[in-house]
Amino acid sequence: MLKVVKFGGSSLADAEHFRKVRQIIEEDPARRYVVPSAPGKRFSADEKVTDLLYQCYYNKNDRQLFDETFQKITDRYMQIENDLGVDSGVREALEEIRYEMLFQGTSDYAASRGEYLNGRILAAYLGIPFVDAAKVIVFDENGKLNPALTEISLREKLRETERAVIPGFYGATPSGRIVTFSRGGSDITGSLVAVGVKADLYENWTDVSGCLKADPRVVKRATPISIVTYNELRELSYMGASVMHEEAIYPARQMNIPIQIMNTNKPEDPGTKIVARVTKEQIRERGIVTGIAGKRGFCIITLEKNMMHNEIGFGRKALSVLETNGLSFEHMPSGIDTLSLVMEERTIRDFDQLLADLTQACQTDSIEVIHHVSLIAVVGQGMAGQKGTAARIFTALAKADVNVMMFDQGSNEMNIIVAVDDEDFPAAVNAVYDEFE
Ligand code: ADP
Ligand code: ASP
Ligand code: MG
Repeated sequence: MLKVVKFGGSSLADAEHFRKVRQIIEEDPARRYVVPSAPGKRFSADEKVTDLLYQCYYNKNDRQLFDETFQKITDRYMQIENDLGVDSGVREALEEIRYEMLFQGTSDYAASRGEYLNGRILAAYLGIPFVDAAKVIVFDENGKLNPALTEISLREKLRETERAVIPGFYGATPSGRIVTFSRGGSDITGSLVAVGVKADLYENWTDVSGCLKADPRVVKRATPISIVTYNELRELSYMGASVMHEEAIYPARQMNIPIQIMNTNKPEDPGTKIVARVTKEQIRERGIVTGIAGKRGFCIITLEKNMMHNEIGFGRKALSVLETNGLSFEHMPSGIDTLSLVMEERTIRDFDQLLADLTQACQTDSIEVIHHVSLIAVVGQGMAGQKGTAARIFTALAKADVNVMMFDQGSNEMNIIVAVDDEDFPAAVNAVYDEFE
């Protein structure tokens, strides 16, 4: 049995958490490869080291602010080292990093140092080798991950060592330039390492007891999902279940490596298991709906044109406008004479220009825009072939006095999406949660 274990920022925020992490690792000899994040928040008003590193980098022209922020970072690491009684050479490394950040390094370099330093401390504390992710996680010169080279590099490098700490979140190009994943990307590193060493299990340790049926910040009493498929989790994480980075699922899934989400503060809890398939029995136990996730910040652009349904090429014209503006859409529901584009608002740089382009290309009669839209995804393999699920969602939302602006069901019947006003977001998620609890 071989396990890769990834610990998130909240699981490595201070020395007390490092102790818990060591205990978890030492409890099971199969936990041989460890992927740490940078120190996260110790309490809700605290700052994540990764955020501090970005702040430093973007304020490097204000030397006083840079120095103040850099001091906070230094203090975080020195306190962890002192409390643990280890010396991993982090103080000297910080000197070098400070210089690099001020005079040469990119923002990716700056951000990556959070994981790099934490990895060095953790390796020293566990007494196992440190393998720099820059040597094994390979990006191409355009900053895109090269999964094939990464797999080979990991396999070859880790073959030499029984156990290792490999920091999350970053890698490097063949020429040595550091590149990071998007935020939360240590989950991806964990998945890649699991593939590289052909692990039997990828354990992802965090601050909640698994993937909960809904975001615990929205539904306080949300309980963990016992077992979920890669597909379901991919839908949930894409739609805002931020417990795991959506891109972390693909590598493990390709090699059919199960993932287990566990709570560092409650290691006795069973957590959530992520697998390729669930049995009918498991579906029955879980209920029809596996989980609910949601994201704010969308808009709906509705194009209206008389006789649109007869016009050949209308959809193509609308979509080519998006293409030339470098935009993607999330959903595209249509009526007889209307076509709506549900889009992420922050991706649209020039709204007026986009509307003008759509009017011109499609010769629309009118265009209507609704802002401040939230999308809520109700996900579950158990929904397929079940009559009345959509009706239950609609009734629950109506009872909670929530207006549904759009509704979309994927043809695999695993996913129902509803669009509601941003203001109704918490009420809507809670109403659907209660209905299927
Ligand atoms: P880590 O630092 O371990 O990577 P993250 O903060 O990235 O942890 O992810 C865990 C957090 O994800 C939880 O504390 C919770 O606030 C949030 N979250 C959002 N949706 C869910 C969900 N459906 N289940 C569990 N946690 C969720
Ligand atoms: N430390 C990085 C972040 O805060 C990566 C991670 O935590 O996974 O986004
Ligand atoms: Mg995370």
